[in-house]
Amino acid sequence: MSVLTRLTQEKFRLPSPPAIAIRILETFKKGEPSFEEIARIISSDPALTAKILRFANSSFFGLQKKVDNLSTAVGLIGLEALKNMALSFAIVQKFRGESSGGFSFELFWKRAVTSAVAASEIARTISLTSENIFVAALLMDLGILTMHLCRPQDYQQVFDEKRAKGLSVVEAERLVFGFDHQAVGQELLQEWNLPEGIWQLVGKHHFDYSLYCKNKKLTANMILCLADLCSSVYHGSGNVQKLQTLKKILQEVLRFEESETENFIDKIGQETVEILSVFEIEPGKMKPYSQILQEANEELAKLNISYAQLLVAHKQAKERAEKLAQELLEANKKLRELAYRDGLTGLYNHRYFQEILEREIKRARRYKKPLSLLMIDIDHFKKINDTYGHLHGDEVLKRLAQIFSESIRACDYAARYGGEEFSIILPETPLNGALNVAERLRQRVKNTPIVLADQEIRVTISIGLAAYENTQIEITRSQLISLADKALYQSKMAGRDRVTGVRI
Ligand code: GH3
Ligand code: MG
Ligand code: MG
Repeated sequence: MSVLTRLTQEKFRLPSPPAIAIRILETFKKGEPSFEEIARIISSDPALTAKILRFANSSFFGLQKKVDNLSTAVGLIGLEALKNMALSFAIVQKFRGESSGGFSFELFWKRAVTSAVAASEIARTISLTSENIFVAALLMDLGILTMHLCRPQDYQQVFDEKRAKGLSVVEAERLVFGFDHQAVGQELLQEWNLPEGIWQLVGKHHFDYSLYCKNKKLTANMILCLADLCSSVYHGSGNVQKLQTLKKILQEVLRFEESETENFIDKIGQETVEILSVFEIEPGKMKPYSQILQEANEELAKLNISYAQLLVAHKQAKERAEKLAQELLEANKKLRELAYRDGLTGLYNHRYFQEILEREIKRARRYKKPLSLLMIDIDHFKKINDTYGHLHGDEVLKRLAQIFSESIRACDYAARYGGEEFSIILPETPLNGALNVAERLRQRVKNTPIVLADQEIRVTISIGLAAYENTQIEITRSQLISLADKALYQSKMAGRDRVTGVRI
């Protein structure tokens, strides 16, 4: 069963060829016709005659002489080309109409004419002389138009399948119809009695690029396929990728430099606009290739810019986050310090003192190391406040805190126990060592006059210390504090400005 029978399912009428085309083709079929015979047929249609003359005078043929009648035309371009021109115009003229069901005749012929011009230019470049190439390229997709005219809904499904499954048109057609537009076009043109050289090409114009890679030979079928690609660069979507493919193949097959390829594609665009006007087809928004290239480059540049911007933004965000994290870390550290420190003296506060003492008692027991605790109280501090004022009293507390901090090891802890009382934890220090430290502190305080607003304030301190040496014995935090407190009380009782120590 023929493809056309399957297509029409005997329900639909196939498009018939235009009357004038039938007459021309019949004349040729009878044998080599005379120019007069052909001229008579064409002249019967003045509009067709005018189109042929315009075509012959276009830059597509690049004739030196002005062609103002069919006789000159045939002399310059030959009878075969004249016939093909007449067929092209007649067929395009007949199958034009309003767009229907998403199918635009205008776009269809615009693409077809662009393909025809492109195919002719490529053929000329590789010196492939074929009278049929223009018509074959022009009509290569006639199968699509026919399939759409016969079964528009099924053809809509072809588009859907193509999009959904990422298929080529040919693959989608085979899926929906069981055959493709190449076969339909071939049979239709055969039925219309078009020359075999044309329908043979139409029957196989989707070539396999890998096949070309193997043989490295550009056949007429491949030219049609390249022309189709060129046409879709001008009229289709996704131009950037198509343009790159087209340029790559053209550079390879035509052995062109990059700029030559670009000029070549540009020339096709310019010629197409001229030929479209001969076919009375509005070129519409058809842009010169140079503009397509510019737009493609801009599209690429946009992609690159946005990627670069993305990188910069990402880097900035990362830096901001890192800075924030660092600030947060420092803020937390400060907050922690604030929570641990006494606001006036900068020494550890009472709460933290209790924590450290707890920890150090456990450590001392675990490692069997002595631990000493000093409780320090300023002598007659009330008097200092009364004499110099509370603010100066505060200043005295600060200066003493400074002396304490400077007089102890890094591993010791000085804290403000409360009011004018201080405590110092001395890890790994037995009674004797602690007595030395305490004595040193006492003397330093006594010998360091505190100068405030031209006044010299002299203070002394009393110290009580408890040295936890026998770590076999369990001791609590409050027990140790209490023992040190008692020793301090003894220092006070004994006359102040002295150190009392007790060993546990
Ligand atoms: P002593 O210890 O020698 O027996 O006599 P004292 O005068 O130091 O006696 P007491 O411990 O009873 O008095 C402590 C005084 O310290 C009471 C209070 O006014 C003062 N004081 C406590 N905390 C602060 C403070 O933060 N700043 C100032 N300026 N004075 C304080
Ligand atoms: Mg006190
Ligand atoms: Mg006191």
